[in-house]
Amino acid sequence: MCHQVLRGVMLLFAIAAFFCAVSVLNNSAALTASRDSFRTETQETSDKNPLLAKWEGPFGGVPPFDRVQVSMFKPALEAALAERQADTDKIAGNTEAPNFENTIAALERAGKSLDRVQTVYGVWSSTMSSPDFQVVQREMAPRLAAANDQIVQNAPLFKRIEAVYNSPDKTRFTPEQQRLSWLYYTNFVRAGARLDATAKKRLSEINQQLAGLYTRFSQNVLAEENEQFIEFKREADLAGLPQSIRDAAAAAATSRKLSNVWIITNTRSSIDPFLTYSERRDLREKAWRMFVNRGDNGGEHDNNAVIPEILRLRAERAKLLGYATHAHWRLENSMAKTPERAMELMEAVWKPAVTRVHEEVADMQAIADKENAGIKIEPWDYRFYAEKVRKARYDLDQNEVKPYLQLEKLREGIFWVAGELFNFNFTPVKDVPVYHPDVRLWEVTDKTTKRHIGLWYFDPYARTGKRSGAWMNAYRSQERLDGVVTTIVSNNANFVKGKLGEPVLISWDDATTMFHEFGHALHGLNSNVVYPSLAGTAVARDYVEFPSQLLEHWLSTPEVLQRFAVHYQTGKPIPQTLVDRIKRAETFNEGFETTEYLASALVDMKLHLAGGQKIDADVFERETLAQLGMPKEIVMRHRLPHFGHIFNSDAYSAGYYSYLWSDVLTADAFGAFVEGSGPYDPKVAERLRKNIFSVGNTIDPAEAYRSFRGRDPRIEALMKKRGFATSNTKSETGRN
Ligand SMILES: [Zn+2]
Repeated sequence: MCHQVLRGVMLLFAIAAFFCAVSVLNNSAALTASRDSFRTETQETSDKNPLLAKWEGPFGGVPPFDRVQVSMFKPALEAALAERQADTDKIAGNTEAPNFENTIAALERAGKSLDRVQTVYGVWSSTMSSPDFQVVQREMAPRLAAANDQIVQNAPLFKRIEAVYNSPDKTRFTPEQQRLSWLYYTNFVRAGARLDATAKKRLSEINQQLAGLYTRFSQNVLAEENEQFIEFKREADLAGLPQSIRDAAAAAATSRKLSNVWIITNTRSSIDPFLTYSERRDLREKAWRMFVNRGDNGGEHDNNAVIPEILRLRAERAKLLGYATHAHWRLENSMAKTPERAMELMEAVWKPAVTRVHEEVADMQAIADKENAGIKIEPWDYRFYAEKVRKARYDLDQNEVKPYLQLEKLREGIFWVAGELFNFNFTPVKDVPVYHPDVRLWEVTDKTTKRHIGLWYFDPYARTGKRSGAWMNAYRSQERLDGVVTTIVSNNANFVKGKLGEPVLISWDDATTMFHEFGHALHGLNSNVVYPSLAGTAVARDYVEFPSQLLEHWLSTPEVLQRFAVHYQTGKPIPQTLVDRIKRAETFNEGFETTEYLASALVDMKLHLAGGQKIDADVFERETLAQLGMPKEIVMRHRLPHFGHIFNSDAYSAGYYSYLWSDVLTADAFGAFVEGSGPYDPKVAERLRKNIFSVGNTIDPAEAYRSFRGRDPRIEALMKKRGFATSNTKSETGRN
């Protein structure tokens, strides 16, 4: 559930940086440079290559998804890179004295074709990956990195940026212009603009090598997720699985052209339910091992050799740039500012979470003993026995909830919430190209004024070639630099399609994820800024999950449940008694949830604080977890050999803590609604829109938060939300 990339010239600070939830590529208005001979060449290429052409059609143009062929990517990227280079060379070579307009604003206008090409390229990379596409990716990743460095290392260009940033005129800039000038300046410096020629050369080599390694890492994981699965030939192998999971397993087999079998694929959306319900302990263990060993199986898709290479290069780069470690470099402009502050938060939550795990395991063991199972709880038993405890203690069976959670009804639910909080209306759009028949889109307008706000694309289902997980992507950012440009965003997930013609039923967790990703989408849709690099979700990594996690809270509001959590057969809303039981069980299993997440976050940070020492991923993971006192019944949510957040790009590296950091804000911010008239308090919603959802990166996030809440965030709300005591005493919160 995560996220992000920037656009235009800003794109070069975040190459291939989208993964989890928000992927903001950039865009803005028309090109202004007169590129003479170059223009003719581009014109010819774009006549043949739709990736380079200006987007046509309604809503200010839409991506030409229906005309894309994989063979178009390489020439399109090459032409677009050349165009961006020409744009930036022109800015650097301007003989006029540098000012905001001819330097910073000009950079915002540069590289527009590349924005468009990279947007579609990113969509293919994350949702339509194929062997022939992967060949292009392997070739282009280092070249894109090199092209980015060429711009950052352009000394005359940096001189101009520096001059604008230090200009005495700066006080006359708008606050947004001041922030943007700072952002360009700091991004260039942080990317090595002030280094000498030798260091710059080495830096560029490092970046190219890293780009290649990131591509290899992600392609290895994708291969193991696509190629590995467990096949069941006998109905007895399905013992305990509810009908919906059996249907999904049959559908997964059919889609792989296998008959008379069921298969469990190697992705979270398929493995987690299997581990929850399968009564076959041997098969649970088999499925669990397949899933947690992605990228760790020896052979051609093994990532163990890739990881130390990445870490070594990152450490060297941090040193070159003048930082103690990669973590210090990454966190400098985050809200946390230093790895120490991030660690402090993680450590404050770690102990109570682990304490809770021991309680959870004791509860599970008691049930296993009572059933004379003759076992000790192992990691492949956790979800299965947790489910039994849930039933015993809260009288809550997730299968009882699922018939009320129809994917399409919940989609209507999120639309309704957006209507209440932000006055948005959603209308389905036909006749706009999509890249896969599963994808649908809606136009977003203002309910009152009917003003067009943007487009929302929805790609909900798992398929081969699509990366696992869920994420948001911005195909086009909102801006007003040269006239109004509205945003185009998408939500992507890996829900498992059920039987043909029947509604897709999802779990409570999946429903939460849907609200989460939609929160990112709303962050993009509410954007109201001038400059595209500051739009929507282009904010600090540890701040970007705040709006999305906040939205999760609206799923359990009675307004949503009564209208949209309706039984797929009877149409009746979910009974209040069931809702009460869900509420009572809200912090149930939070020990597990928090610990599996935090283990990954802590290992990520410690790994990137380790500096230049030679690291064996397997040993480091094992020893760090032992030092932390990781409960043996739990494994990291993402083990290192498939930890895409931190190894697919720089994006979440030394940054996986961001979810927890943002959740401190989330829990505290929801308190503002609780203290008001509830989740739909229009005054609080307006404050939220004004200070958080609409401002993008135009102001410092800590300041934005204070404007919304009237004070700094406090950790107490987070601890309460997760059912942890704030001291290390045994907590009983939420247990009854
Ligand atoms: Zn997210």
